[in-house]
Amino acid sequence: MTEAAPKIRPQAAPRRVSVLGSTGSIGKSTVDLLAHHRADYIVEALTAHKNVSLLAEQARQLGAALAVIGDETLYRDLKDALAGTGIEAAAGAPAVAAAAGRPADWIMAAIVGTAGMLPTLKAIEQGTTVALANKESIVSAGDFMLAAVAASGATLLPVDSEHNAVFQVFDAEQRNGIARIILTASGGPFLRRSRAALATVTPAEAVRHPNWSMGAKISVDSATMVNKSLEIIEASYLFNLKDEYVDVLIHPQSTVHSMVEYVDGSILAQMGAPDMRTPIAHTLGWPKRIRTTGQVLDLTKNMNLTFEPIDINRFTAVSLARQAYRAGAGHPTVLNAANEIAVEAFLAGRLRFDRIENISAEALQKQAVGRISGLEDILALDAETRHLAQEIVETLQ
Ligand code: NAD
Ligand code: MG
Repeated sequence: MTEAAPKIRPQAAPRRVSVLGSTGSIGKSTVDLLAHHRADYIVEALTAHKNVSLLAEQARQLGAALAVIGDETLYRDLKDALAGTGIEAAAGAPAVAAAAGRPADWIMAAIVGTAGMLPTLKAIEQGTTVALANKESIVSAGDFMLAAVAASGATLLPVDSEHNAVFQVFDAEQRNGIARIILTASGGPFLRRSRAALATVTPAEAVRHPNWSMGAKISVDSATMVNKSLEIIEASYLFNLKDEYVDVLIHPQSTVHSMVEYVDGSILAQMGAPDMRTPIAHTLGWPKRIRTTGQVLDLTKNMNLTFEPIDINRFTAVSLARQAYRAGAGHPTVLNAANEIAVEAFLAGRLRFDRIENISAEALQKQAVGRISGLEDILALDAETRHLAQEIVETLQ
């Protein structure tokens, strides 16, 4: 979807779909939509990491052909949970990637973190329609993901609410008429808190987002504003624009999900309730519109929309991401991997909240980035950075 509008495939009804990461926040919303549009979709594969009971329940509910649990020690449990259903069970990371490669017309890539990279790539390599929630894979390996999209002829549809909003109002025929993309950011739970007061933030406070209900990792990323910084990189790759064309505005109401400003002064926005079922439904039905099962915005209530510039001295993650993106391939990989380790350490009580960003900044300084000529190089750099970031976390204890 970079240079021109994504191609529209003829739609056979019902469409065959798979959900990678079906037990997560995005996965559950996707399953909810599929359950309400049962006649229009045949479910091929569902995958999860550890939650056997929910995975089995979803697979039964949707009549999936295959259910895969990432943690291979849980194979027996899954097999037992699916006994008598005729649903195939599999386990382990290679089985998750193989599930992503099973022929389907639409695949939701909603595994969190770089763990989603290979499965997302496998889905793309089928040349099918891939709904991309797993932003870390595009941030970490954007060039390779997009090269795979071009090679296979896949259609990549953005699920991230900001990118989905931009996609809905982005006139691909008028690229030269685009002045900038404006990503909105709620500012997270600590928007008005001083930097000094961030030292004592607990994991429970950090995952309590004021507007959105999301998985733990992205909730922490929203609280540190790293999420927005990853989204700048994500937008640059997805819409093939230099990051100078991607701005951020704080919009605490999370009603306008993002905007495109054109050179004639027109600003086109997409609005909706802060409910991921809208962008997911948009990608699931695309190019048609299908009914959401989520909240719908009531324009007569609380429509006080405010926008303010982001304080880049306070939220340093944004500048760091721009630097990493401009430094080129490999640097966003380092930023993303170091952040994943820092968030993990914070959630485990091993790192202070206000030090999360320091880990990425220090990793970007210390990690050597060699020539990146393939996905193997990205995966090796990701692994090296994780190791380095762990060491940096330990020195801060
Ligand atoms: P989550 O933590 O709620 O769910 C993650 C899913 O991935 C689960 O099904 C889990 O079982 C699976 N998973 C985790 N580790 C795995 C591994 N090693 N191998 C295989 N599967 C694994 O996360 P989420 O909030 O649903 O986010 C998923 C992705 O979507 C992330 O990349 C996130 O940035 C992106 N996203 C989420 C939201 C949101 O509202 N939740 C919004 C925009 C983008
Ligand atoms: Mg987002």
